[in-house]
Amino acid sequence: MTGDAGPGGNAPARADALDTRLVHLGPPPGQQFGYVNPPVYRGSTALYDGPAGLRRTQADPLKRDLPAYGRFGTPTVRAFEAALSTLEGGHAAVVTCSGLAAITTAVLAFVRSGDHVLVSDSVYPPTRRFCDSLEAFGISTQYYDPCLGSGIERLLRPNTRLVYLESPGSGTFEVMDVPAVTQACRRRDVTTIVDNTWATPFFCRPIGLGADVVVHSASKYLAGHADIVLGAVVATEESYPAVRRAAIRLGQYAGPDDAYLALRGLRTLGVRMRQHERSALELARWLSSRPEVSDVVHPALDHHPGHLIWKRDFSGAAGPFGLLLHPRFDERQVAAMLQHLRLFGLGYSWGGYESLIVPSDPGVRVGGDWPRPGTLLRVHVGMEDVEDLKADLRGALAALRSADEDVRSPGPTPSTV
Ligand SMILES: *Cc1c(COP(=O)(O)O)cnc(C)c1O
Repeated sequence: MTGDAGPGGNAPARADALDTRLVHLGPPPGQQFGYVNPPVYRGSTALYDGPAGLRRTQADPLKRDLPAYGRFGTPTVRAFEAALSTLEGGHAAVVTCSGLAAITTAVLAFVRSGDHVLVSDSVYPPTRRFCDSLEAFGISTQYYDPCLGSGIERLLRPNTRLVYLESPGSGTFEVMDVPAVTQACRRRDVTTIVDNTWATPFFCRPIGLGADVVVHSASKYLAGHADIVLGAVVATEESYPAVRRAAIRLGQYAGPDDAYLALRGLRTLGVRMRQHERSALELARWLSSRPEVSDVVHPALDHHPGHLIWKRDFSGAAGPFGLLLHPRFDERQVAAMLQHLRLFGLGYSWGGYESLIVPSDPGVRVGGDWPRPGTLLRVHVGMEDVEDLKADLRGALAALRSADEDVRSPGPTPSTV
């Protein structure tokens, strides 16, 4: 099942623009009684015409053809896989039960006992915990400064099998020089995996920057409505068989309802990302001017250390950014600020239509300038009216300051997330 055939199956004279492709991705309506959306196929068993079909599935380690057992992907799951892979410029994709499962599947596809793995220091913290757990299987993980660029070359050892990247980094938003890292790795035959959850293929396509494998939490922008947990791995032709085999071996599976919702989310990815970008930038600039704020960590702001790389490799900026409060505010005052918010929700994940804020912990680092003094918050700007969001933050910042004056008054300690 290909992802990019138009309704009539006519090849376009030139490649369609991204917005057009988002609308026309997926199985041709002619294959589904004219309906523009694919049906939700639920199923474990699918029946074959005859024994030749059974033999074909048995003989194919990648279980490409349908019908096949439901765990290998129903037509709904495959429609989302094909659509995402086309958008990323990959060969094929594998959908997984969560974003973290996409990461663990992609890593396990390439490593074996005795290998050395290099992981960017600002990766999504559960990625770090998973890589650390590989020690038990004789795989050693070393963390590197996300800003090292071609300096990765000096860290490559004869047994380095994999370099893992995430750009911008979770929480601290360092922009990586992805082409410099992937070029160095290609020269040494080392596989690269990039977590592209923040940018989505709408703003960045790491395979075009030399990556072998791209991983996604589809729970974020791809689905876009905070209603599912889902992941995906997109791979080049060379890397895909290892990824699909790992997914099959590990029993990776995603339900057709979630795959359907993710495919539906893609249709509006363009309008949503542009809106998130515009509102986030406006709030980021406004927050930069506030006296309570010591820094706004947003790759699209001129003073961000990775701004020029971001400009070169991304066509836009997503909604999450870092907000570093002035170090004079303590935990209790920050709690008063968070308690005061009306529109920004206190909750994990991001990429849905609603604005969120959570304290983020830059944690242990081997390089770069983190941790920096002051509380770091991760802001995700949703689709609300930006003036309303500003008013919400203005009130919360006032609560942050006024908590100064209550220091000596006894009372319950507000809870933080
Ligand atoms: C949320 C997130 C993940 C994990 O995704 P889940 O779908 O929650 O498992 C992975 N990478 C990044 C950058 C994320 O933000």
